[in-house]
Amino acid sequence: MKNNSAMFKLSYGLFVLSAKEGDKSNGCIVNTVQQVTTTPNRITVAVNKANFTHDMIVNTGEFNVSILSEEVTFDTFKHFGFQSGRDVNKMDGLENYEIAENGIFYLTKGANAYLTAKVVQTVDLGTHTLFLADVTDGDVLSNVESVTYAYYHKNIKPQPQETKKTGWRCKICGYIYEGEELPEDFICPICKHGASDFEKI
Ligand code: FE
Repeated sequence: MKNNSAMFKLSYGLFVLSAKEGDKSNGCIVNTVQQVTTTPNRITVAVNKANFTHDMIVNTGEFNVSILSEEVTFDTFKHFGFQSGRDVNKMDGLENYEIAENGIFYLTKGANAYLTAKVVQTVDLGTHTLFLADVTDGDVLSNVESVTYAYYHKNIKPQPQETKKTGWRCKICGYIYEGEELPEDFICPICKHGASDFEKI
């Protein structure tokens, strides 16, 4: 590829993908929700297999999408993106949500709409599974603009402080590793992304 940065010119929204299996509810951050057909009204979402929510959707065939707005705070990304439902119950201390008719929660703050969906087909993509799903319900929650990945990086993610230190900055969450060499197997303590998502400062 002449320039891999061409991939960064693609634009994305940001969403909380939620599911429920038995008594357990969980959600994660995704940027991969797309409407693919209107008749029938269908969406796709690609989900990393490492996500706990992924397995819940495989097992139940149902999920909700909270469409995040520009009012969403970094706390929402920390809560749903930087920790796993395998380790914590993300419903603990969660405020500003409601339960849709399918029994799965959606966010009522920092989101401008929600969709409920039923999986009709899955495609194994190796690291991810692509779910094709019928939209079964949904509602508008506010008229605040939907947040984009670019807006997140510019306005929501904590901005790196000017520093004279040498080190490496996580491009995802802004965490700074101090040191000349970043270990190859380094994992960001905040967002759990690997060394390839760090840039030299
Ligand atoms: Fe990080």
